[in-house]
Amino acid sequence: MKDLQLLVRPNIWRLQPYSSARDEYSGHVAKVFLDANENPYNKPLNRYPDPLQTELKKELAKVKRVAVENIFLGNGSDEAIDLLYRVFCRPGRDNVVAIEPTYGMYRVCADINDVDYRPVLLDEHYQITAEKLLDACDENTKVIWICSPNNPTGNNLMREEIQTVIELFDGIVVVDEAYSDFSNQLPFRLELRKYPNLVVLNTMSKAWGCAAIRLGMAFASKEIIDLFNKVKYPYNVNSLTQQQALESLKDAFDVEKWVGTLLGERTRMMQAFNELPICEVVYPSDANFFLAKMTDAQAIYDYLVADGIIVRNRTNVQLCKNCLRITIGTKNENNELLASLRKY
Ligand SMILES: *Cc1c(COP(=O)(O)O)cnc(C)c1O
Repeated sequence: MKDLQLLVRPNIWRLQPYSSARDEYSGHVAKVFLDANENPYNKPLNRYPDPLQTELKKELAKVKRVAVENIFLGNGSDEAIDLLYRVFCRPGRDNVVAIEPTYGMYRVCADINDVDYRPVLLDEHYQITAEKLLDACDENTKVIWICSPNNPTGNNLMREEIQTVIELFDGIVVVDEAYSDFSNQLPFRLELRKYPNLVVLNTMSKAWGCAAIRLGMAFASKEIIDLFNKVKYPYNVNSLTQQQALESLKDAFDVEKWVGTLLGERTRMMQAFNELPICEVVYPSDANFFLAKMTDAQAIYDYLVADGIIVRNRTNVQLCKNCLRITIGTKNENNELLASLRKY
């Protein structure tokens, strides 16, 4: 890995971050807060939230087995994705490399930040070699985006290839593990100590069933987390979200149950799709959704919408012609989808 200072935008490296009222008195026990121009009435909503979400991070550290200093929390993983550009990529000059197809926000945030986005096509098994990704890099490549299990394809990428990319690339490698709770692969977040250039993304939006509260995570070296904290909005995760996340973390057992149920349903749905005459291929999945190649994805999608059932039409995505992406729902929801498709 290059020296971190060589990877970070010079203006960000030099940045003097905003110092909020609550940052400045640390180390003392306070009883009267007259520092932040808050209204003293309307408790508890009158107070600004903890800018570094310390209590929540302590609980997450236990669940995720990652040290507090290696955790960044944001308004969804999408905030961390945007921050990666704002910290590392000089607009109009730097570039990033990503697998294709993958999660659309990596490209949207590149476009917003005026950073050249270099997609590298997966093969017909939706896999990639380290060599192909590394070949797409040059001296201005700051970040390589990898998503595993990948969205929309659903599969894990080969672990050895990801590892080789992390080991050989001299910039930042992001591994988005939004769906790792559904996979039996060892998560890369447990390998942070080995890889100073690794950033792993997680979210409360999928297995944890909390998409509404908008809580995403990045795990990385303390040096990288410090940079994220310097650039983020001071109070980026609101109090209600922090509280609800703490509540949800107490129910880790529920998450395990949900995941077990969803994986069972996934197996059943994939078998049922295999038997549909309008389904041509069901692709392997390590996530809570699967991709299916249909005879005519657009027509089937429109038919389902008319029946009040919404799936994701991915037919215009590279390598996904005529593919629908099916999220696993409750048993009843899944049965409604199957019943509708059998009448098509
Ligand atoms: C759903 C998803 C996310 C989650 O984003 P949030 O902003 O945390 O809701 C992140 N990455 C991938 C690949 C996803 O599919």
